[in-house]
Amino acid sequence: MTEAIREIYWNVGEGPGSLSLYLCALVALGVMTWGILRDIARWRAGRPDARIERLPARAIEALAQVFGQKRVLRDRKPGSMHALIFFGFLALFIGTDIIAVEEDFTVPLIGPDAGRILVGGFYQSYEFILDTMGLVLLAGLIWATWRRYRTKPDRLNNRGTDLWVLATLLYITGTGYLLEGLRLANQVIGGATVYDQAWALRSYFGYAIAAIFRVIGLGSGSIVGLALHSFFWYTHMLVTFAFVASIPFSKYKHIFYTPINTFFRDLEPKGALMPIPNLEAEIEKDEPSLGVATLADFTWKQRLDFDACMRCGRCQSKCPANAAGTELSPKFLVTKMNDLMRGEPIMLRDGTVARVHPNVAASSTSEAGEAGKPADAQQQYTVIKGDSETLPLYEHGLFTENELWSCTTCRACMEECPAMIEHVDQIVDLRRNLTMIQSEVPPGVKRVLEGIERAGNPWRLPQRERTAWAAGLDIPTLAEKESVDVLYWVGCAPSYDDRSKRVARTMVQLFKRAGVDFAILGDEETCTGDPARRMGEELLYQQQAQTNIETMHQYKFKKVVTTCAHCFNTIKNEYPQFGGHAGLDYQVIHHTDFLAQLVAEGRLKPTEPVDERVAYHDPCYIGRYNDIYDAPRNVLESIPGLELVEAPDWNRERAMCCGGGGGNVWMEGWGKKGVNVIRLEQIQKAEPQTLAVACPFCMVMFEDAAKNTGVGDTLARKDVAELLLQSLGSEPTPPAQANDS
Ligand code: SF4
Ligand code: SF4
Repeated sequence: MTEAIREIYWNVGEGPGSLSLYLCALVALGVMTWGILRDIARWRAGRPDARIERLPARAIEALAQVFGQKRVLRDRKPGSMHALIFFGFLALFIGTDIIAVEEDFTVPLIGPDAGRILVGGFYQSYEFILDTMGLVLLAGLIWATWRRYRTKPDRLNNRGTDLWVLATLLYITGTGYLLEGLRLANQVIGGATVYDQAWALRSYFGYAIAAIFRVIGLGSGSIVGLALHSFFWYTHMLVTFAFVASIPFSKYKHIFYTPINTFFRDLEPKGALMPIPNLEAEIEKDEPSLGVATLADFTWKQRLDFDACMRCGRCQSKCPANAAGTELSPKFLVTKMNDLMRGEPIMLRDGTVARVHPNVAASSTSEAGEAGKPADAQQQYTVIKGDSETLPLYEHGLFTENELWSCTTCRACMEECPAMIEHVDQIVDLRRNLTMIQSEVPPGVKRVLEGIERAGNPWRLPQRERTAWAAGLDIPTLAEKESVDVLYWVGCAPSYDDRSKRVARTMVQLFKRAGVDFAILGDEETCTGDPARRMGEELLYQQQAQTNIETMHQYKFKKVVTTCAHCFNTIKNEYPQFGGHAGLDYQVIHHTDFLAQLVAEGRLKPTEPVDERVAYHDPCYIGRYNDIYDAPRNVLESIPGLELVEAPDWNRERAMCCGGGGGNVWMEGWGKKGVNVIRLEQIQKAEPQTLAVACPFCMVMFEDAAKNTGVGDTLARKDVAELLLQSLGSEPTPPAQANDS
């Protein structure tokens, strides 16, 4: 038996083999580099956005996402499919690199004996590992092809580039095995065919193929076998370099752009929208530019987002607006802008295709019939006259009213997206332009913004009625006490909405039962501005934020406790952008978290059984935005007799929005079905007697859904605080001097 060894240019000859290989490599790398540089130039045409702080944290997370496939594996089945392709491809890539290092560096530098890497035991292990990982890759590719072209889920829409990606990888992997089989069956080393050497068995899959070749007469130096080997060798090489060259021009671009996008992801708290830089100075200009009206208005990072999208549709599959049948799909939001940015036909949500071209006549006769022709000849094709960068997007129907306002800003898309694309900021930026520049807002939005501006609340009710809910409860205000342990931030909904007022009164009873030293701002409290910000009215938001921050700075307190998920998020995560002292002078705590602490400390003792089967709905601004999943459940689980159940599949970070976020609590439904109704149906699958909520907006939305669907009293709707109070019985109130620091 001879020593195991790999001859690189066997059968094709070192001269012609290496010459064609280096030539193709040069061309492919040149084309790829040109394509990437062109893409980088496109990103750089966007507005500035500072994303270079905390570089080590960025790098660590990007590596964990890429090599740990963290986000990808969240969706188990397609995630596993992608992981098979990723790790199989990675192993073969490393294997090919080892050959290149041996051929181009170690052998020329150290000599053919000492410089050979693929020899002996190492070579045998190498062959075994690569044969195995090739099968892993093949399995992933077959799975992906089956999924995309046979069982195709709704969230996928196929394009020609998808076929290119799968076909090239299948060809490269398949011919890799055929080449191996033909080599083992025909190559002679030390006077014996490799197939007959024991070490050839390490390449077990190639060995099996070699056995077939021998049976059909293509082994042992057969002329046809050798010719076939040459053919596969050259086409394998050509397709491989075609793949390399096509990276920036096809879906392969995600190999580079998705990790880069992950590296530049937003490191601010998840609940904080990006402020508009120099807002007041911009407003003073004759022609202010606020938000996004054209492609050129997006930041470089948002333009990178567009290129990083791999059209997997995960965002769309979890989007409540999409489920409700609105015109919004977060996937199409991104892909439309990517098509526009790249000057390609724009695939629209309704199945039609549009193309932006400076010359309509030229475009509609030649390009629409060639490059721009949709796959389906019956598909409607529209040509929009204009420049892709400066074309007003909304005016030309590339975004619609229904699409932009039906977003509940729930963040489900962002949480699912394996490319870390920031859809919510994109949507809010588009809304900002509509609201602040174009004044193109739905009536519901207009009413809310007027209400906040004139009355300090979205319901447009008088400020003097803000504390009516507290009548008879003897609640101190901060103006009276100046310094307390807890500032109870009531919020507009618990101040004005009848159902939510009961939750605020419950909270006061719980504070008193636990002996919490608390006060409210009373008439000094005004809307946090959260709805205004999500509706794109950044100036009004910042004015509300400034007012509230200045009010809060007058007093001393250690904690701010809110019953509203939106107030909680904005005071905690967004007010610090404008001088708020959350995390410095005081902590901001959601009421479920605070109640969980009081129960854990024994200051509230749930003793009375509440014999109810309860499903908890995670509000987006508590769950996905602030990762509070356990505290509300801990409170519920502390209640004797209460059975906690979960909405199957749609709970915790995957809980669907109630439909009220992003200002939608005040808007008419945009879809065929209410998001609140869909969510209620998901929850009812757990067969609860009671639905527990932790945000007044959720309460409003579920009360509405229960009324409209006839669920009525068959499913009670209670805040977590109300269930807790129900179980306290007549336990004595702890001493008032309890310390909340
Ligand atoms: S934030 Fe929610 S509603 Fe808006 S696009 Fe994303 S998933 Fe859809
Ligand atoms: S935006 Fe993200 S989740 Fe949506 S299709 Fe693109 S890569 Fe997939």
